[in-house]
Amino acid sequence: MTSPRPQVVALDGPAGSGKSTVAKQLAQRLGWAHLDTGAMYRAVTWQAMQRGIPPGDGAAVAALAEAAHIELDPGTGRVTIDGADVTAPIRTQAVDAGVSVVAAIAEVRRVMRRHQRAFASRVGRVVAEGRDMGTRVFPDAILKVFLVATVEERVRRRVAELRAKGAGVDPEAVRKALVERDRQDASRDEDPLRPAGDAVEVDTTGRTPAQVVDQILALVTSRVLPSETA
Ligand code: C5P
Repeated sequence: MTSPRPQVVALDGPAGSGKSTVAKQLAQRLGWAHLDTGAMYRAVTWQAMQRGIPPGDGAAVAALAEAAHIELDPGTGRVTIDGADVTAPIRTQAVDAGVSVVAAIAEVRRVMRRHQRAFASRVGRVVAEGRDMGTRVFPDAILKVFLVATVEERVRRRVAELRAKGAGVDPEAVRKALVERDRQDASRDEDPLRPAGDAVEVDTTGRTPAQVVDQILALVTSRVLPSETA
């Protein structure tokens, strides 16, 4: 039996644009699952680093991605790879620095795409966040949102996030790393970071997550039957 087509809200955008916070809260409000696809690329990057495989070794990283068992708990956000809980270690600056190289490998993207679509089919209704949700993975999403924010605000958020974890932070280094990651994500051949033609652009600069979630929620409810959102 084939499962019915999943209902997807696709959230894409550059680093620090607010995707994770907004996706999590939106999923909660809708009672839908949350799919953090960046966490999947981060988990592969973390495992490659653990094994001493350079992120640029396309064949070795692709083989690792194919063999890895990644689990995302749609409720708690816990991320595991081959049974190891990597929820915290995938958010380090070291993983930040390697993940865009891993994510540019076409074969890795093919494997991740397969897992992401299977996840959506399994849960049925999902808020999916990443870089290529609207352009590639879920072209039939009921709503595609492209989140943006000024570089200054995105850097501020990332610095605050790292400081909250007790990491020593040099804001200028964070700025350089963030701009470089966006450059790599936007210039790669495979599924580069860009808004889908039918995406709605939402600027999160100077706004609270709740304000952004309310705006997106209104867009969602205008596109699905009210009875389907709860
Ligand atoms: O969203 P997050 O910042 O955690 O994503 C980490 C990295 O994973 C991105 O910088 C990008 O290189 C990659 N990514 C991607 N496609 C996605 C999600 C993330 O290429 N759908």
